[in-house]
Amino acid sequence: MSARPRAARRAALTLTHLGAAGWVITDGEHVILLDPYLSRLRITGQFGTYTTPSVPGDVRRVFGPDDELVSDTEAVDAHVTRADVILHSHSHFNHTLDMPYIARKTGATVIGTESTTNLARAGGVPEAQLLSVRGGEDYDFGWFSVKVIPSLHSALNGKHFFDSRVVPRDFRGPRRLGDDVEGGTLAYLLRLRGYQILWFGSMNYIEREVSGLRPDVAMIAAARQRLELYDYTRRLMRALGMPRIVFATHWDEQSFPYGADQDARLREAAVFIKEVKAVSPRSRVILPRHFERHTLPPKRRQ
Ligand SMILES: [Zn+2]
Repeated sequence: MSARPRAARRAALTLTHLGAAGWVITDGEHVILLDPYLSRLRITGQFGTYTTPSVPGDVRRVFGPDDELVSDTEAVDAHVTRADVILHSHSHFNHTLDMPYIARKTGATVIGTESTTNLARAGGVPEAQLLSVRGGEDYDFGWFSVKVIPSLHSALNGKHFFDSRVVPRDFRGPRRLGDDVEGGTLAYLLRLRGYQILWFGSMNYIEREVSGLRPDVAMIAAARQRLELYDYTRRLMRALGMPRIVFATHWDEQSFPYGADQDARLREAAVFIKEVKAVSPRSRVILPRHFERHTLPPKRRQ
């Protein structure tokens, strides 16, 4: 009766990469989204310097520092139909811009920093759906639990990136690239169907906060900004006890449209894979392409 392949029926969890830091994790019953960002806006002037490289055939409008950032709801609708929980690493637009629309449409609970939940409020998400966290919480939802881990943002712009601003409670928009607030950065340890999955949404971490965690799966941000940090990959893999499955995440050129050539970024991510293999040869390292589905088999015991 089911047209699904046998492997899909046997999967305990399916993980699908949305590009940027975005993921869908589902156990077939529930759907968790991580930093879902599908708009992939073409931009200029981010942090004063970044402009989306031009791609042949990319005729989309360009968002400058003073333009209101607008979610591409068609792109969202094409790929996100339901969600129970949305987790956010931080508030930057390439992590949260699509969240208010998704949360309103799905009724999902939004978990993130105070800045992230204030952006959700500004985007019309009902109060009952918002859970503000600061790191250190360990919340049980029955069907899954999540440990919120204090973390750090990538050391962008040659380590000159520093942002202590927060999105205020009375913020009502509009959101602009020139005023894009980080609002602090978190990582999350999800426990679901016997798996522990550690997820990062930025190329940084606090070693003492992750040291001793033993995730089955580590989703590690892999773009070149990691190279600003001392021994990024080796320190992290050792702190986590060499997880057996590693997904590279946040590796792509996230302002390119889906389907655009990502070869330059893929080459950079290939270096990350080598870094992991050098310290942890037994780890399986996966460089997920957009919308590829990765399945984890059922676990025998919790
Ligand atoms: Zn960011």
